[in-house]
Amino acid sequence: MVDFSLSEEQRMLQEAAREFAAAEVQPHAEKWDRESTFPREAIRKANELGLLTVKIPEEYGGYGMGSFEEVLICEEIGWGDPGFATASGSTMLASYPLITGGTEDQKQRYLSKVADGCIAAYCVTEPGAGSDVQSIRTQAVRDGDDYVVTGSKMWITGAGHADWFFVLAYTDREAGYRGMSGFIVDADSAGVVLGKKEENMGQRCSDTRAVDFNDVRVPAENLIGGEENGGWMNAMRAFDLSRPTISAHAVGNARGAMEEALRYANERSTFGKPIYRHQAISFMIADMATKIEAARLLTWCAAKKADAGERNTLEAAHAKRFSADMAMEVTTDAVQVFGGYGYSEEYPVARRMRGAKVVQIFEGSSQIQRMIIGRELLRGM
Ligand SMILES: Cc1cc2nc3c(=O)[nH]c(=O)nc-3n(C[C@H](O)[C@H](O)[C@H](O)COP(=O)(O)OP(=O)(O)OC[C@H]3O[C@@H](n4cnc5c(N)ncnc54)[C@H](O)[C@@H]3O)c2cc1C
Repeated sequence: MVDFSLSEEQRMLQEAAREFAAAEVQPHAEKWDRESTFPREAIRKANELGLLTVKIPEEYGGYGMGSFEEVLICEEIGWGDPGFATASGSTMLASYPLITGGTEDQKQRYLSKVADGCIAAYCVTEPGAGSDVQSIRTQAVRDGDDYVVTGSKMWITGAGHADWFFVLAYTDREAGYRGMSGFIVDADSAGVVLGKKEENMGQRCSDTRAVDFNDVRVPAENLIGGEENGGWMNAMRAFDLSRPTISAHAVGNARGAMEEALRYANERSTFGKPIYRHQAISFMIADMATKIEAARLLTWCAAKKADAGERNTLEAAHAKRFSADMAMEVTTDAVQVFGGYGYSEEYPVARRMRGAKVVQIFEGSSQIQRMIIGRELLRGM
C-alpha cells in the first residue's frame, strides 16, 4: 500500500514553515508586491529557521534532508506568497547543479555560503534563448588558469542580490548541447554588469534582471565538476530537483487562493443566501480542492522518486506542468468567486492570480514540460 502519512519530524517541519509563512510572509506580501520590495529580511529569517537549505548536505552546513521535506516546506512558502516563494527559491535553483555535479572543493566553498544565508542566482536564459537552451550564445574560453566568460543573460531571479551566479556557457560550440559547461561566477567579479529590475506582471517582490558578463575572468576551479562539457546534463539533473519545489510553490499558492475563496463565499450573500450555497460556486471551489489535491500528490511523487535515487524526469515534468496550469486555473476561479472585488488589488486573490502566471513560463514552460513528457513516454516503450 502507498503510505502518504507524514512522520512526526515532517509534520513539525511543515508546521514550522506554515507558522513562518503566516507570521512573516502573508502580512507583508501585499506591500512587497505593491512597492516591488525585495523581502531580504524575511529571506534571512527563513534561512535562520533552516527552511531554505534543508536539501544542502550536513557536511556543508545544511540539514541533509530529502526533496520530500523540501516540497512540504515549499508548499507552505507558496501559500505565504508566490513572489516570496520565487525570491527565496532562486538560491537553491543555483545550488542544485553544485549538489548534483560540483567538486568537493566547490561544495565546501559555495554550498557552505548558501547555508550561511547568501543569495545565488541561476543564469541560463538569454535575450534570444529561453526554451531553446541550445541557442545560448554565452561562451567560456580557457586562458591560462582562468576561463573568460562572455555573454548576456536575461530574466535572472535574484540577480540584484546574489553573491554568486551559476552560469551556463559553451566551452565547445561545435559539440552542440554536449559542449556546454556550468560555472560559478562571483557577483563582484570585474565585468559583471546588472540590468535594471524588470517590472513584471506579478511576483513583483522578486528581483528579475539581465546580467551581462563582459569578458569576466573566472578561475578554472570554478568550472562545475572540474571537467568541460558536462554542463547540459548537470543543468537538466538540477531541474529534476528544482521542478518539484516550483510545483509545491504553485500548490501552496492555489491553496491560499482556494482558502480565500471559501471564506469569502461564506461571507458574501446574493439572492438571500451566502454565495457558497449556490451550487455553481460550491462546485467551483470543490473543483479547486480536487485539483490542488491531485497536484500535491504529483509533487510528492516526483520528490519521493528523487529521494529514492531514481530518475524522476517524467514525474517532475508531470508535477510542474499540472501544478502550474492548475494554479492558474484555481487562482482565476478564485477571482471569479470574489466577483468585482476579486478584480481589485485590495484583495489578495488578484496578487495570487498574477503570481500564478509566471510558473507556466519559467523553469521550462508548460509547453516544454509536455515535450519532456512526450519524450519520456517514448523512452518507456
Ligand atoms: C519572472 C521570471 C523569472 C525568471 N527567472 C529565471 C532565472 O532565474 N534564470 C533563468 O535562467 N531564467 C529565468 N527566467 C526565464 C524563463 O525560464 C524563460 O522565460 C522561459 O524558459 C521561456 O523562455 P522565453 O521567455 O525565451 O520564451 P520562448 O522560449 O521564446 O517561448 C515563447 C513561447 O513559445 C513556447 N514554445 C517555445 N518553444 C516551443 C516548442 N518547441 N513547442 C511548443 N511551444 C514552444 C513557450 O512555451 C512560450 O509559450 C525567468 C523568467 C521570468 C518571466
